[in-house]
Amino acid sequence: MNDEVRTGQCLCGAVGYTLSGPLEPPMICHCRECQRQSGHAWAAVTAPLEAVKLREEGSLRWYRASAKARRGFCEDCGSFLFWQEVGAETIDISMGSLDQRDDIPLVGEIWCSERAPYSAQVGKEGVPQHEKGAPED
Ligand SMILES: [Zn+2]
Repeated sequence: MNDEVRTGQCLCGAVGYTLSGPLEPPMICHCRECQRQSGHAWAAVTAPLEAVKLREEGSLRWYRASAKARRGFCEDCGSFLFWQEVGAETIDISMGSLDQRDDIPLVGEIWCSERAPYSAQVGKEGVPQHEKGAPED
């Protein structure tokens, strides 16, 4: 992916960042921790720590679900934004929080052994899909 400078933010905007490439292409994580924190599976790009500059961070909080890593989220709106392995020089940034992501292809899925049972149905025939919210009957 190119070296474009991207921006992103949480749902309420209290936590915002800029991100300069290159990025490692995103994976979707199906682990139970990501399911519980995000509500489903969590997609994220990986970037060197120095590539991420917080422009608003007053509401950023960190939660350690395990000794291995910490998870950054907005305390105001609850958005799950970052995942960082302890001692790592990289950080994972949620795809959902990025403003520019049309040129970023998905490269894989991890923790598929913990995938939610209904997850395999996503995008499949027999599961109605709607451009916006489900129509009212
Ligand atoms: Zn927020």
